[in-house]
Amino acid sequence: MMIILEQMESSLLTFNCSLNTPKNLATITAPYQILATPKTKPFEANSQVLIHVYYTTRVFSDDAIEPRSYVRNYLQNYRELAIGIGTKNILIHLPATLNEFKNLGKGIKVMVDELSGFNIHLEIPSWSADLRKTMKNVDEYMEVIERTLMEITNDESLVDSSLKITNDRTSMKKSTDGSLLMKNIDETLMKNISERTSLKTLVDSSSMKDTDEDSSMKITSERTSMKDNDETLMKTLVDSSSVKITSERTSVKNDSDESSLKTLVDSSLMKDNGGFHFVPDTAHLHANGCNTNDMIRIIEKYKHKIQYIHLNGNKQAMFRSDNHVPIFSVENKINNWEFLSEYISKLNKICIAEITKEGCSWKDWEDYAKKYKFELVKRHKAMRHQ
Ligand SMILES: [Zn+2]
Repeated sequence: MMIILEQMESSLLTFNCSLNTPKNLATITAPYQILATPKTKPFEANSQVLIHVYYTTRVFSDDAIEPRSYVRNYLQNYRELAIGIGTKNILIHLPATLNEFKNLGKGIKVMVDELSGFNIHLEIPSWSADLRKTMKNVDEYMEVIERTLMEITNDESLVDSSLKITNDRTSMKKSTDGSLLMKNIDETLMKNISERTSLKTLVDSSSMKDTDEDSSMKITSERTSMKDNDETLMKTLVDSSSVKITSERTSVKNDSDESSLKTLVDSSLMKDNGGFHFVPDTAHLHANGCNTNDMIRIIEKYKHKIQYIHLNGNKQAMFRSDNHVPIFSVENKINNWEFLSEYISKLNKICIAEITKEGCSWKDWEDYAKKYKFELVKRHKAMRHQ
């Protein structure tokens, strides 16, 4: 049985699968994730397998953009792996350090160059200590997350291009079957163009029910009291990514050769079979300072760009590196994870519990899925659910 997204009644709960015996994986028809190295050999699988690129592929490192960089070489290997497996879904981590953030625009270009036509699922990792040091409160964390997402969804920073893209989309919409995804992207883009949404607007206008009033109130007062920060990271982001991309695009636009602008637009925004998607990881968002309400706001805003969700608990307090546990673990520090689970289970997304070592039985996952109304994948020996 192949599970088609649109037909799912509730979110699906699935796991990482081991690559120790790839032959076994052919019998799994449900979606799952693999953590593949650039040397992983293709095997028979299904089209909803998500290939999690190994951490050694530093797309946002300084030299990734070079013509024959090892990163480009690795991405070409992953491309071949995806073709062999028969999936278009590849997951890559967004910047984790301050230096990587400086290369945000370049990294996006490398991905567009090497993986055009594929679905690139971008995950925000838990940020490094040097990055955390540049941000002093939850407000800034949220804003960096927002900015990053705007960058990859091309919403705020590219006013002129956005307008052009909107026109293109309007005409393209007529020539396609008007899929729901296209409609969603159009609506979001239009909304953002008219609103110039800032984080403040988002927070103020959010109609999400506040379910953990205590922690929200605490965070709100922290946010209000700290307004005089040096904005180092924000400056970095604006200086080195948006602006750079904008000027690159403008110059390309002015040249007689419009091909790279066209490629960028075609492959990242306009096709529902290819382009950027966002993978929220609950453990990472917690590490970066988001409470359950913040996570719900972010997911609500970007859910049209979300196909997979990493559903993990985190043993650590906020603003520390993450340490995954099952979301229902007593050690999980994510506040109100019960409500978060209830919310996510209704989203019609593919949720991956990435747990590999923490002890809990299959029965625990069955109980969790039943209680929060997830559709649980069939048990399989290759699945790393315990
Ligand atoms: Zn993850």
